Amino acid sequence: MENNRPRAHIPRRQSHPSTASQRGAMKTIIEPFRIKSVEPIHLTTPAEREARLREAAYNVFLLKSDDVLIDLLTDSGTSAMSSEQWAGMMRGDESYAGSPSFYRFEQAVQDIFGFKYVFPTHQGRAAERILFSVMCKPGDVVPSNTHFDTTRANVEFTGAKAVDLVIPEGRQPATIHPFKGNMDVAALERLIAEVGREKIPLCMLTVTNNSGGGQPVSMANVRAVSAVCRKHGIPLYIDACRFGENAWFIKLREEGYADKAPIDIAREMFAHADGATMSAKKDGLANIGGFIASNDAQVAQQERNLLILTEGFPTYGGLAGRDLEAIAIGLREALDEDYLLYRITSTTYLGRHISAAGVPIVQPPGGHAVYIDAAAFFPHIPPAELPGQALVVELYREAGIRAVEIGTVMFGKRDPATGQESTAPMELVRLAIPRRVYTQSHVDYVVEAILNVFGRRDAVRGYRFTEQAPFLRHFTARFAPLGG
Ligand SMILES: *Cc1c(COP(=O)(O)O)cnc(C)c1O
Repeated sequence: MENNRPRAHIPRRQSHPSTASQRGAMKTIIEPFRIKSVEPIHLTTPAEREARLREAAYNVFLLKSDDVLIDLLTDSGTSAMSSEQWAGMMRGDESYAGSPSFYRFEQAVQDIFGFKYVFPTHQGRAAERILFSVMCKPGDVVPSNTHFDTTRANVEFTGAKAVDLVIPEGRQPATIHPFKGNMDVAALERLIAEVGREKIPLCMLTVTNNSGGGQPVSMANVRAVSAVCRKHGIPLYIDACRFGENAWFIKLREEGYADKAPIDIAREMFAHADGATMSAKKDGLANIGGFIASNDAQVAQQERNLLILTEGFPTYGGLAGRDLEAIAIGLREALDEDYLLYRITSTTYLGRHISAAGVPIVQPPGGHAVYIDAAAFFPHIPPAELPGQALVVELYREAGIRAVEIGTVMFGKRDPATGQESTAPMELVRLAIPRRVYTQSHVDYVVEAILNVFGRRDAVRGYRFTEQAPFLRHFTARFAPLGG
């Protein structure tokens, strides 16, 4: 396959010794790409936004995306593809079995991840469903730093329990720590002693820790978790959705990695694990897709059978050949140093600028998103009056920006018997940054909008539910503003 490998777009050059020397004296963050094809976005008037908000019952999930100027709802599947990826789409071979697109995809995954058995899936959660169906049974326990919500749901669907063991700093929004996504290794040892090794079919490590604020995991922590798992014979799987961003944070923040290339850091990370699940909608720089990978022939055999049952033949796994091409190329582009430098610097710039003006955020800014602490932003709006929802509405009202509430609307519950509402432990608003989509002036516009809302925060009121579904209510709930 060596000759077919699409690699021309990844320059093979020395790793940059440090961010500072790479950029020399220049401070401006520039996008390391130029624009070949443009997609218009629409400015709306304040009166139009007011009308759209009312029609959507103040739930931004119910807006039409055409009415959104800057869409920071998610970084999942929203990446812009490169010209190389589009070229790969044309090369995509749609043979049912044994397509060369599959072999290019498999080669890219094996080259970076180092695992022997690789199966494509239609997205990350399909990989999780197959992995946990094979590995877990009722009564089992699956530890992770923090399980992503689809990961938790798929673990629990098998009757096993999903346990989060992130370090204590990872639960404190304002505390600064270079690797807030780390797993508490002592807590992992305690859990194994408590429930017994035979109840733990596998251990997960999410890099970066999405549900924990997009915070990275250090190589030292991967090594330590791996050592504990290996000592007890527990397979370690990496939830690898943002492996490129995690590799970049290791390069920036961990001693001994400044001169290493992101691809070598990624390879070292995966060498400590026995397998991985991946959503290619994140650091695959693709709009759809995922995969599952491991070194265990027996597990792979069972996965293959399940894959055929729900996803398709093992050389396409629910994807078109052209998607496999886009992922094969995207995985390598996600490790490009110029790209990662721009990506992380731009997210950090957004976090730093609003934070410097007093806006309370989860510190430090994550790789793919900035999280605003809405409870601290609006201290006069109690959690029961949905401060995160109020902020999400104001960002759209102010500037046509769409963010997502990660607080009581998403994680609180109404008791069906009493009608009593419970609140979430934190009231966050996430600004997730799509990859390669927005420019630095878009980011400046977002900063300005947030600061405008911050300036008039005392006048903002809370919201109440007028309608809500019993499950995953944030997608469809309807709201009304409280007070005048
Ligand atoms: C997005 C995500 C998933 C699930 O992937 P999908 O492609 O959305 O199914 C799993 N884990 C993490 C950490 C994620 O961010």
